[in-house]
Amino acid sequence: QQASQPAAAKVLKVGAEATFPPFEFQDEKSQDYVGFDVDLMKALGKQMGVEVQIVNTAFDGLIPALESGQIDVIASAMTITEERAQKVNFSKPYYKSGLSIVVKADNNTIKSFKDLEGKRIAVQIGTTGAEQAKKIKDAKIREFNSASEAFLELKAGGADAVVNDLPVNEYFLAKNASKDAKLIGEVLNAEEYGVAVAKKNTELARKINKALDEIKQNGEYAKIYEKWFGK
Ligand code: GLN
Repeated sequence: QQASQPAAAKVLKVGAEATFPPFEFQDEKSQDYVGFDVDLMKALGKQMGVEVQIVNTAFDGLIPALESGQIDVIASAMTITEERAQKVNFSKPYYKSGLSIVVKADNNTIKSFKDLEGKRIAVQIGTTGAEQAKKIKDAKIREFNSASEAFLELKAGGADAVVNDLPVNEYFLAKNASKDAKLIGEVLNAEEYGVAVAKKNTELARKINKALDEIKQNGEYAKIYEKWFGK
């Protein structure tokens, strides 16, 4: 199937920046793409009668890839913003999120977003976290291709803080049982994630919204949520 015929294609090409656990990442052993968004897209695909194939794409390359037809869908913990909505068709929101700060465990000066003034902040390029960090007075922003690289920069001492999506920060700290980093309590900006399709692809957008309603009704969404965020 050609990517230029997404509506008719039996395989839905789903763009995701796959180093963003627990939403999209590669299983260490199998190297399979796994995560909340991956399960969500598989469930939506099942409702729509199509296969889904994850195409690992840089975060700042996702919207261009959608516009050029290399992918049919974006499912990449992408926050619905007005700016992005001018370029893509977002589904109904499927996940409530927000931004938070991670600092080194021994940092006692940063306790809120206000305290980030003049600080070195590591972020992932093209994200709402990057945008938010850029608004902070006198902050020195270091942009990385992935959130994990931003965390590494913090660890290496090249940044004072990471600004990134709360559930991803929480997962990172839990997984790394981190003694050297901690989460700041303040959460900024309720954000909502949406699945995106090309502007012109209104039929696919409609199908995705319908499938989203269906998996919320039949309990599949709740199962996936429980799998990744239960306890
Ligand atoms: N939710 C954030 C955004 O949309 C970060 C997404 C991501 O890095 N995958 O900008």
